Amino acid sequence: MMVNHPEHAPITQFPIHDNCLVIGGISLARLAQRIGSTPFYAYDRQLISARVQSLRQHLPANIHLHYAMKANPMPAVVQHLAGLVDGIDVASTGEMKVALDAGVAPEAISFAGPGKSRQELACAIAAGIILNVESEYELETIAQLAKETGFQASVAVRVNPDFELKSSGMKMGGGSKQFGIDAERVPAVLQRIAQLKLDFEGLHIFSGSQNLRVEAIQEAHEKTLQLGLQLAAVSPVPVRTINIGGGFGVPYFPGENPLDLGAVGNNLQHLLAAIPVRFSTIRFIIELGRYIVAEAGIYVCRVLERKISRGQVFLITNGGLHHHLAASGNFGQVIRKNYPVAIGNKMGINDTETVSVVGPLCTPLDLLADRMALSRAEPGDWVVVFQSGAYGLTASPVAFLSHPAPLEVLV
Ligand SMILES: *Cc1c(COP(=O)(O)O)cnc(C)c1O
Repeated sequence: MMVNHPEHAPITQFPIHDNCLVIGGISLARLAQRIGSTPFYAYDRQLISARVQSLRQHLPANIHLHYAMKANPMPAVVQHLAGLVDGIDVASTGEMKVALDAGVAPEAISFAGPGKSRQELACAIAAGIILNVESEYELETIAQLAKETGFQASVAVRVNPDFELKSSGMKMGGGSKQFGIDAERVPAVLQRIAQLKLDFEGLHIFSGSQNLRVEAIQEAHEKTLQLGLQLAAVSPVPVRTINIGGGFGVPYFPGENPLDLGAVGNNLQHLLAAIPVRFSTIRFIIELGRYIVAEAGIYVCRVLERKISRGQVFLITNGGLHHHLAASGNFGQVIRKNYPVAIGNKMGINDTETVSVVGPLCTPLDLLADRMALSRAEPGDWVVVFQSGAYGLTASPVAFLSHPAPLEVLV
């Protein structure tokens, strides 16, 4: 009986020249020489630009696009995106510094995340960025700090919605959450903001991440707008912006397909067109991390040894979970699945074999590909992990086992 195994969505964003992958117009072999050592992450700036362009093309013209930089905080990437998007969302004062250094205007930077310390809040207020308030306690602290320093504090209220984003890779709203203020408490919080005379920006509703299902995103957009406008209608302080979150996914695993951005954009266009005129001054924001950068990046490591154990071939490489936790399957996956992987200097070669790609760490979790059909590889060849531009290096336990950290380049 034939069993149909689901396959990875084809990787088409990188050209191939002489069986070698090309990134940023440079062949992998030459780029590796230029960088001087492996492993490394390489991000293609043209692909990042093209992705932003595609978003601009498919999303309603009046929607503002923000980059959530925790997906990839490399300063060169943030600098590049600073000139392409309308704002940057940060999740720490470290990220805030990178965004400010990149020349982003403070009023185009928003800072979300639970557990902001007094110190961080004070830095953010002095910087003049917008604080997405995650709790009533945080709001009072901000008001106190603003009073002490004499600086105006700009705040937006992060709302924990009363619904969940269906089939999302990671749920970040709905039910009981550490994120945001429960929707039913928000009217009272808006009254408090008016009383405290803080500079009020608007509402932030982010319900989840890594979603590939159009209907689920459409439903989330509809409910998010509905909730946002309902709250705006009872707010004593004018709502200038409503950030409707993001959560657009990219295909990582066999059987997953790229998101139909056209369908998401069309639906949003209709939803925005139907908004009553009295809300016409509200600016709508969409914030994306992964979707903007994930597919523009690769992780590259080198085969050190080809080892056969009881018939199974292992490619032992100098890279692994300490550099790329997500590809090893240990960053939130329930059932481990392979990322798309290839031998970067043997692309399109039909001489394949089934191998497992492992790293140098003393743990069986250090697995980059589990019994995958790859071009037959030898020591010195390059293993490429695709879809690696988001939640790669900075989402990995680099210090684990004290191997050297990988380099990063934007080409
Ligand atoms: C992480 C995060 C994002 C980005 O999520 P992606 O799945 O990378 O698009 C956006 N907004 C907030 C509040 C986040 O915490």
